[in-house]
Amino acid sequence: MSRVPDSSVSSVLVGSRGGAYPVLVGSGLLAHLPELLREYAPAHRYAIVSDDRVGSLYGEDAVERCAEKGLRVELLTFPCGEPSKTREQWTVLTDRMLAGGFGRDTVIVALGGGVTGDLAGFVAATYLRGVPVVQVPTSLVAMVDASVGGKTGVDVRAGKNLVGAFHPPRVVVADPSTTATLPPEERAQGLAEAVKHGAILDGTYFEALGEEASGLMGGDVAATRRAVLRSVQIKARVVSEDERESGFRQVLNFGHTIGHAIEAAASYSIGHGTAISAGMVLETRLGESLGVTEPGTADRLEGTLARFGLGRISADVARIDSVLDFLGADKKARRGRPRYVLLKRVGEVEGARGWSREVPDASVSGVLEEIPGDATATG
Ligand code: NAD
Repeated sequence: MSRVPDSSVSSVLVGSRGGAYPVLVGSGLLAHLPELLREYAPAHRYAIVSDDRVGSLYGEDAVERCAEKGLRVELLTFPCGEPSKTREQWTVLTDRMLAGGFGRDTVIVALGGGVTGDLAGFVAATYLRGVPVVQVPTSLVAMVDASVGGKTGVDVRAGKNLVGAFHPPRVVVADPSTTATLPPEERAQGLAEAVKHGAILDGTYFEALGEEASGLMGGDVAATRRAVLRSVQIKARVVSEDERESGFRQVLNFGHTIGHAIEAAASYSIGHGTAISAGMVLETRLGESLGVTEPGTADRLEGTLARFGLGRISADVARIDSVLDFLGADKKARRGRPRYVLLKRVGEVEGARGWSREVPDASVSGVLEEIPGDATATG
């Protein structure tokens, strides 16, 4: 961290086939974007890609600051929200860059949430057969999860994230102070993934998240910084070991098998974090029913998630028969059978027979039938 005058910046190295890259975590880092771009991703031109909301909150300032420091930068925005993560929007951005004469000596800067990171990352992966990308996450989902690991892509009619590429960034610049403008419901969506990180690999972190829940939900920047850093360290460790998800990276899918099915059964009317939180609790109940998970773990998980307004959904939001149908269509299924990551206890995944496993359908139906169908559930 030579040229950035902030002693509280932490750097976490992520191993990648294309070369290791650092994730920098520090409050106020965004103000140093020009220096960081020069240091980690020197280029003739920069295209900062943001959604329109983040573009007006942070993008215009970032462009101005970069221009003052002599960088040639333009801001490209698109309408905010998941509906923009499409091939159509990929086409719009790519065509704008071609029309603007951006050449191979361009770096794309993805400034925003996970939608921006995935979309701009996919544009970078494919533009003129690939130009470098710098990830500058501004949402908690993007800081603790989406910006680390190199996955980019778009949603298609057949499902979410089905067209994409691995395109690791040159550097990730995570400035937790930008989350001050994040609405609490968006904050909770990111904290769901943070709780997942604690639940699978770090029981102490899991406890700390529970204790700091009100600060984290209220936007306490110091608490947010600690959580972002710990989650980044955990995700970095996992993807450094298994970038292409052939083994250990599967642990990050904890809660996601049932969670994705819930999300689809609810026609994407609930947040991903909301769905995977319910998925984590249900998959842990599943683990307990199979004798794999220490009894009481699901209740502990549910108690911690409840502090973030997460962990339960109502059968009115996602019908159980529909959840079962979507489980059958899981994209990570092998031989047509969905696979589950099961905890041994909080902070530890059961991995003696691989990191994910098939389970009997009756056991899955058993836990799903316990989903309440009344207003006691949140979602
Ligand atoms: P998002 O990018 O749509 O951001 C959510 C909302 O918050 C948007 O309206 C955005 O404008 C706004 N926002 C972002 N930062 C803000 C800030 N600092 N202040 C105020 N508003 C802000 O969605 P998300 O929740 O960040 O990410 C979800 C996406 O990430 C999904 O498409 C998901 O598939 C993807 N994802 C990818 C990976 C991966 O490994 N590539 C991992 C997890 C999630």
